[in-house]
Amino acid sequence: MPLVKDGKISQDEFVRLADDAPLPAQGAVLVSAARFLADPAALLQRLGKLGVIWPNSRDLDDLVPYLDQLAVVALVFPTFRDGRAYSQARLLRERYALAGELRATGQVLRDQFVFMLRAGFDAFEVKKQSDAEAFGKTVKRYSVFYQPTADGRVARPLPAPAVASFRECHPMNALTQQFTIEKAVSNLPAEELARSLADAQPAEIIAAALRTVGRDRLALVSSFGTESAALLKVMADVDPAIPVIFLDTGWIFEETLAYRDTLIERLGLRDVRSIKPVKETLAQKDPDGDLWFSNPDACCRIRKVEPLSRALEPFDAWINGRKRFQGGLRATIPVVEQHGARLKFNPFANASRQEIETIYENADLPPHPLVAAGFLSVGCMPCTSRTEAGEDARAGRWRGRAKTECGIHATAST
Ligand code: SF4
Repeated sequence: MPLVKDGKISQDEFVRLADDAPLPAQGAVLVSAARFLADPAALLQRLGKLGVIWPNSRDLDDLVPYLDQLAVVALVFPTFRDGRAYSQARLLRERYALAGELRATGQVLRDQFVFMLRAGFDAFEVKKQSDAEAFGKTVKRYSVFYQPTADGRVARPLPAPAVASFRECHPMNALTQQFTIEKAVSNLPAEELARSLADAQPAEIIAAALRTVGRDRLALVSSFGTESAALLKVMADVDPAIPVIFLDTGWIFEETLAYRDTLIERLGLRDVRSIKPVKETLAQKDPDGDLWFSNPDACCRIRKVEPLSRALEPFDAWINGRKRFQGGLRATIPVVEQHGARLKFNPFANASRQEIETIYENADLPPHPLVAAGFLSVGCMPCTSRTEAGEDARAGRWRGRAKTECGIHATAST
């Protein structure tokens, strides 16, 4: 099982000892809590490092007297929904000032990695090599680990890598020619447009958006998430030069950044704009990079809502990929709506999940790389987790919190 430690995949020097296995005279060993508590003095006197695997159902009080003599405390995640080890980790770091290695073992999945870092873990027994590699990359986003009372250090994300601008020319897709795209010809209010386009196909809605506000005044906003390729494909068939706004919050999965680049090339997108938060705002309001944890609404505001507001300034209308079948606040969205001073077009409002899948199949679109790992909806890394069978596709977003939307669709002030 790969061990991620100090930001890299490491050789585990510790040998796990079964409760009935003979105790080697020396060498680093990990023993169960039961074996340790049966005779702690004998184990602590031997030569070689000692670690204890502590179940999340067991009180830490029994372990605390020995903390400064243990090289490793390994806390267990029996299932990925069972988070009791997070509380144990925080207690060990913050109340008991554990300074040694705090290891996560059991169901250690990549979508919990930043939570684990935040809770004070600094070593991770990962089940799959691919997850271990992703852990290694993620840990490089931190300048230090979070161990607030152990040594006063806090976690800070490193600056995200520079993002290229993609404006290469691409021949127009033949399908584009099905639509006559003229200069702005309409000042119809949103309700009237929504009525006239209520039964229109997504491509017709995008073409109507172009006719309504004109070629230079329309943008599409995409997260390059698990269903984004379908809308981008339809848009590219109408006009691949429509500007695409992507909010690069600084917490985006590496896989999403790679997927963005894949789709740019595959679909011939000619104007993808990766928008980052303002550095000074981050320094002032999220200096430790943990606002997502303490106040996710404020985090979304500075990393998504405000950057989008700026990015949309040159435009009179924008397109997005929400669908009614996603439920919640999306269950009743019209095809066109007024959003502050702008029109907002929802070409997939009427679409079924099957129709989205058909677009993927017919165009042979690549899936988002994280779909295969069980992610049905992908946003920022700290606020995204896998979904279980039977769960809603967006159940993995802001799991365990009341929050269900980032706020970009609620803003109507611009
Ligand atoms: Fe912050 Fe999470 Fe919102 Fe991303 S989704 S901006 S990390 S709170």
